[in-house]
Amino acid sequence: MTRKVTILGSTGSIGCNTVDLIERNAQDFEVVALTGGRSVEKLAKQAKALQAEIAVTAFDDCYAPLMEALEGSGIEVAAGEQALCEAAERPADWIMSAIVGAAGLPPGLKALEQGTTLALANKESLVTAGSLLKSTANEHGARILPVDSEHSAVFQALVGEDVSEVERVVITASGGAFRDWPIERLASATLAEASSHPNWDMGQRITIDSATMFNKALELIETHEFFEISPDKIEAIVHPESLVHALVGFRDGALMAHVGPPDMRHAIGYALNWPERAHLPVERLNLARIGQFTFRDPDEERYPALAQARWVMEEGGLAGAVFNAAKERALDGFIEESIGFLDMAAVVADVIEIMSGEGLGLAAITLDSVQEVDELARAHADAAITRRQR
Ligand code: NAD
Ligand code: MG
Repeated sequence: MTRKVTILGSTGSIGCNTVDLIERNAQDFEVVALTGGRSVEKLAKQAKALQAEIAVTAFDDCYAPLMEALEGSGIEVAAGEQALCEAAERPADWIMSAIVGAAGLPPGLKALEQGTTLALANKESLVTAGSLLKSTANEHGARILPVDSEHSAVFQALVGEDVSEVERVVITASGGAFRDWPIERLASATLAEASSHPNWDMGQRITIDSATMFNKALELIETHEFFEISPDKIEAIVHPESLVHALVGFRDGALMAHVGPPDMRHAIGYALNWPERAHLPVERLNLARIGQFTFRDPDEERYPALAQARWVMEEGGLAGAVFNAAKERALDGFIEESIGFLDMAAVVADVIEIMSGEGLGLAAITLDSVQEVDELARAHADAAITRRQR
């Protein structure tokens, strides 16, 4: 029997890897919706190759070029935020959430409302609105499966285990582009330097977030939200080889590690085939050739984002939405080359300082309340960027 699948963010790095796995077993799938942003040609090509029902671009001004690219194909075309949500509402058995940033939240919620399985790469939606995402899934009998490599690793290490027996969860970090740079040099790190990852081939935003460890900060929060494990049991460790993705420690002292090549098709494929395992086209590791795995504690001075993540987990409530929004704007500021590399964490710290007294932890998490603090945090971040502009 074929399964109906939708990919939100199909033109991105995770999206293309998902398309790759589906294309390899095209006979098993019926593709409902594919969505993208400005890469209209790529979206049209994917939609034709997978014979999708509908292709949706997030941006209204991309509607006409997408229409043109798909003319005569019989594939429906739509554009805009509302159209993304409608695509997520179309009945599907499995939906990949691979839009980057807080924009992934509304369509992710719509997907959950139809009671489907949501493969979640969009960690930002769990960071900004974890309890809302989980309660929506519970209410509608939907399931969320992790796609982030570390979280897929933890999820796999927990198969057949009782979470209450978990003593610690260790997620690994490559340390990003500047892990070996002297700290004094970081202030002058350029956009091009920050956009190249030593081990993983990913979208630009998450690649820069790896260099600052904002990505790991989001992932600490994601671990806390996804597995409902208390923050004091969650650690990040630098592992430059990016081969051990996470380790789960149990109360008898055993540590279960998940080891694999840095290829997202593993985690995506696990979520696609869950609860079964299927053959995946990923490299098999030659352990003798690798020789050793190394680990070291992250330097919190180099990566202030980690302490900021601790603040988010302690505060709870809307703190995650504030943190993520401030981080997204700070990242925009760095990509636009308005601020320097170290300014990103400083901008987020400014926003946290301004907004931390506002009872964030106690606020109810609804789509409206999340979007409201998200906007406010972005405005504060913009002001902080202007102050720090070079
Ligand atoms: P990417 O930038 O390569 O792709 C992002 C996708 O979202 C594209 O399809 C793009 O068109 C779409 N998009 C961009 N802005 C949009 C908007 N405003 N509205 C709707 N759609 C929009 O990103 P990526 O690296 O594939 O990451 C996607 C998500 O997966 C992120 O949440 C990221 O943190 C997470 N993730 C990525 C990796 C990885 O290896 N790339 C690993 C783990 C988790
Ligand atoms: Mg990850």
